[in-house]
Amino acid sequence: MVHWRATAAEVTGALVSALGVDLDPRGNVRANTADYQTSLPKVFSAGDMRRGQSLVVWAIREGRLCARAIDQFLMGTTNLPR
Ligand SMILES: Cc1cc2nc3c(=O)[nH]c(=O)nc-3n(C[C@H](O)[C@H](O)[C@H](O)COP(=O)(O)OP(=O)(O)OC[C@H]3O[C@@H](n4cnc5c(N)ncnc54)[C@H](O)[C@@H]3O)c2cc1C
Repeated sequence: MVHWRATAAEVTGALVSALGVDLDPRGNVRANTADYQTSLPKVFSAGDMRRGQSLVVWAIREGRLCARAIDQFLMGTTNLPR
């Protein structure tokens, strides 16, 4: 019997492939920092998935801004901090 366990990168890569979102030239999921939306409607990207491997402080900042952008997208307005 063969036990196979996918790595985080493999799981993430499989998800990205399955979704079919556009990638940037570095292979990260393309999304701008204005609304964090990908090429696929209602799919957002932030942190390492958007920036590539980086620092945790950037992941926290992008996570907050992305949450704000999603709130704005869903509710038409947001009170979440930048
Ligand atoms: C070995 C190592 C050491 C590091 N050391 C430092 C350091 O000292 N200082 C520093 O600032 N930064 C460090 N970093 C970088 C920092 O860890 C990352 O920048 C940060 O964790 C990125 O956060 P994120 O939320 O964008 O992504 P992640 O922390 O990778 O979170 C993504 C989450 O999504 C989950 N996921 C993936 N695919 C799926 C799926 N299909 N379904 C559901 N969930 C899924 C993953 O399991 C994971 O929990 C290090 C990174 C590594 C790999």
